[in-house]
Amino acid sequence: MKFGTMFTDILASFFKKNSTQLYPFEKNPTPERFRGNLYYDPAKCTGCCLCVKDCPSKAIELVTIDRAAKRFVLKYHMDRCVYCGQCALNCRFKCMGMSNKDWEHAALNKEEFLVYYGKEEDVREMLENISKPPAESEHK
Ligand code: SF4
Ligand code: SF4
Repeated sequence: MKFGTMFTDILASFFKKNSTQLYPFEKNPTPERFRGNLYYDPAKCTGCCLCVKDCPSKAIELVTIDRAAKRFVLKYHMDRCVYCGQCALNCRFKCMGMSNKDWEHAALNKEEFLVYYGKEEDVREMLENISKPPAESEHK
C-alpha cells in the first residue's frame, strides 16, 4: 500500500463513527424474547417437577420443604443451562421464565453459578439441612 493511500485512510478514520461499543458502558437493547437467566416464582409453583424432568441438561433441582405451604427452593445451575427455555415453556403455572434483562455471566468462581431461588428463610433452612451431619444409624 502506498503511503499516500494509507495516510488518507488514517485521516478519514478520525472522522468516522466508531464501529465498536464501549462495553459494558454501552450496550444494545436485548430482544424481548431473548432467553437469559431463568427466573422463578415459588408462590405459583405446585412442586410438580415437570420442569426438572424436562430439562435436558439437569440444570434445575426442586427442593420441597413443605408442599402444602408452597415452600420450595429451586436450585439453578447456570453453568449447565443451555438456555433452551423448555422448563419455562412446559410450566403450566407460568412460574418460570427467561429474563431478557439478566444475562451477563462472568465470575471468578464456579460456585457463583449455582443460584437458589425461593424465600430467604426457605433457602436458609435448606442450606442448614444440607450442612447437618447425617443422623447416626440406630443399628450398629
Ligand atoms: S413445572 Fe412449574 S409448577 Fe411444576 S415444579 Fe416446575 S416451576 Fe413448579
Ligand atoms: S432453559 Fe433449558 S437447560 Fe436451562 S434450566 Fe430450563 S430446561 Fe434446563
